Amino acid sequence: MGVRTDRQPHVTMIRIERIELREIILPLADRFSTSAGAVDERRILLLEFHDADGSREWSECVAETLPTYAPDTVDTCWLAISKWIAPIVIGESFDSPDLVDAALAKRIRGHRMARAAVEMGLWALFARKSGVSLAAALNDKTRSPAPDRKPRSKVESGVAFGIQSSPELLADRCRAAADEGYRRIRIKIAPGADVMYVRAANDALESRIPLAVDGNCAYSLDNAHHVSALEALDSFGLSMIEQPLGHDDLMQHATLQRCISTPICLDESITGVERVAEMIALESARIVNLKPGRVGGFRQSLAIHDACAESSLPLWCGGMLETGIGRAYNVALASLPHFTLPGDLSPSARYWAQDIVKQPWTMDADGTVEVPLDRNGTGVEVNEELVDELTVRRLTLGQR
Ligand code: MG
Repeated sequence: MGVRTDRQPHVTMIRIERIELREIILPLADRFSTSAGAVDERRILLLEFHDADGSREWSECVAETLPTYAPDTVDTCWLAISKWIAPIVIGESFDSPDLVDAALAKRIRGHRMARAAVEMGLWALFARKSGVSLAAALNDKTRSPAPDRKPRSKVESGVAFGIQSSPELLADRCRAAADEGYRRIRIKIAPGADVMYVRAANDALESRIPLAVDGNCAYSLDNAHHVSALEALDSFGLSMIEQPLGHDDLMQHATLQRCISTPICLDESITGVERVAEMIALESARIVNLKPGRVGGFRQSLAIHDACAESSLPLWCGGMLETGIGRAYNVALASLPHFTLPGDLSPSARYWAQDIVKQPWTMDADGTVEVPLDRNGTGVEVNEELVDELTVRRLTLGQR
């Protein structure tokens, strides 16, 4: 199918005949450690959508094995998709993908990562059937258009490091990442693995690229050791301190933001556009990390993008250790005009010994990743033989 270059009005109808749901287990290239624990492999749900006209598209559910980052897990998402979400969309016709979120939200509370896996898949299928890239389909729907209404052709990538075994090893990895061209380094921290590590990273980088830290909710203002660590971190000139406090908190973060000059970035607390409005009103933070899976998909992501643009709040696209399929969705989202900071858009080889897409994602020497604007839908071709080998369970939802 060729890529449409005209701008004629064009109605595309999506009608899902069936969804193939499967779980794969994919080994990580390196162990990844955060304040919540360490992982060596990733259990991942993949969805393959079959439209009534024969079109196909893949999506990825970003839920993890345990509910340590979000309430959703691989197993709750399997249940929610198969029992409640797939039956709502299978057999239904949608002439615009931004109607899918409302159809799901009307009948399902929570289960955002499960809803997102389906909703985002339908966006990609809509783009594929419309003969445009997913990035173009998303850019068409933002209220905050780029000057020429064209998506960016490149997005900036940062890299995230889990907690390393020593500050020296972290320093080495930071130097190497700066040499590779990454535009920003973000390091996971936890009480006891924070100030020394940040000092080592900061010294190693010598201000070559911005340094950020992510506390993943491991700190409390009720703990004097935590408070003094956060005060010490404030002296490094970091680009942001991400979500140091409670996973659904806005008030305590506002208290902390009043006491430190480093911008706080919220991740876990932002579960929808209403939370961004509350964050702005309370002055809880000055930056937003947007992960589409966490907020229920692309319609919410677009609303958050537009709200941040209207309030001039810096925004970036976070990652959830996605495969090359999930990466395609994040790259497309990050092509929107108000993603002002580098995202977690590392190349495939950073996390996976072998990615499940035929052309692994790569990063140019200037730290940018190309947006596949010349390809329809997600723009990735899935290595289906490898996915079959890695599959540990599968379920067909809808008619064959
Ligand atoms: Mg985070």
